[in-house]
Amino acid sequence: MLSLDAFAAGKLAELDARHQRRTLVPTARLDGARLTRDGREYISFSCNDYLNFATDPRVKAAAIRAVEAHGAGAGGSRLVTGNHPMIEELETRLARLKGTEAACVFGSGYLANVGIIPTLAGRDCLVIVDELAHNCINAGASMAQGRVLRFAHNDLADLERLLLEHRGGFAHALVVTDGVFSMDGDLAPLPAMSALCAAHDAWLMTDDAHGIGVLGGGRGSAHSFDEPVPVPLQMGTLSKAIGSYGAYLCASRPVIDLMKTRARTVVYSTGLPPAAIGAAIEALNIIEAEPEFCALPVQKARLFTRALNIAPAESPVVPVILGSETRALEAQRILSEAGYLVAAIRPPTVPAGTSRLRFAFSALHRDEDIEQVAAILREKIL
Ligand SMILES: *Cc1c(COP(=O)(O)O)cnc(C)c1O
Repeated sequence: MLSLDAFAAGKLAELDARHQRRTLVPTARLDGARLTRDGREYISFSCNDYLNFATDPRVKAAAIRAVEAHGAGAGGSRLVTGNHPMIEELETRLARLKGTEAACVFGSGYLANVGIIPTLAGRDCLVIVDELAHNCINAGASMAQGRVLRFAHNDLADLERLLLEHRGGFAHALVVTDGVFSMDGDLAPLPAMSALCAAHDAWLMTDDAHGIGVLGGGRGSAHSFDEPVPVPLQMGTLSKAIGSYGAYLCASRPVIDLMKTRARTVVYSTGLPPAAIGAAIEALNIIEAEPEFCALPVQKARLFTRALNIAPAESPVVPVILGSETRALEAQRILSEAGYLVAAIRPPTVPAGTSRLRFAFSALHRDEDIEQVAAILREKIL
């Protein structure tokens, strides 16, 4: 296997030369804002556990109860023996929160997009994707048989141009965007995008991984505008603000029934484990009961953008774009010396020349830490 090892080592050397190699560091998270690494405690601005549900005693207790009642694993694909009753309860709860007829859960956000998009987009379908959409949307699009095009980020004129030029050549069209962009924190312009899609009979799909739980009173990006926006395909993950694992599509009954019989990542993959479902249901209980709590991560993000005198945060995610890989890594090092952990995000996760620090704010961050980090940025980094 010498050629195999030489191949892998060569790839790693290339990445090292570009400062793009990533390494895993053992990390023990203490809660939504604190963790320990190499024996040292840090305040983390890199967790997506926006509402601290991963370590919330109520959520943990619900996960334990689910294991006691239903075991550690689902034991099979849902279509065979893995469809334990808690899964259907979770789907009913998600559809209620989102205001759709039905929902289908998946093993993860990645598996959801890789399952949903090819199920809807056959050879006769045009797929149009925002150029900054999450990697797994592009993975799903690349598995679809239809033609895939990209529109400039959040640019409705460009989307309209593509629809005018190409829509007529296809029986169907699917437009896919992040609801909240995971590396930029901005929102898709959903009210106008939804109207444009309707005018061209294009099916709009949002990936609300960073919207559910924290925008629109916890109901997500489609509910964070003046009026609820009609989005027929609302996908999201249970692994971020929900604090658990898994993902969902909320849509009409026929679309959901189609997913359950045709989406390959539902049919050929094991059902979610009971602990993940129990935790997610309890998180939804808290979200429905405490909408003011759900608003805290965005409020914390706005404190930060005010302190830096930049455009107000639209979501809990705020990028500080620094340009080169080395500049982002150096900024990460300066902040970590001060006890703050912030991920330097580099290509290929973000476009070349836009390496950045990506801040994620949680309900648990203390105002004084946010102000302190902003001060370090102003004085030593920007
Ligand atoms: C994190 C993320 C995903 C993947 O979700 P997982 O459940 O972690 O697989 C999908 N889309 C977006 C926009 C994300 O940020």
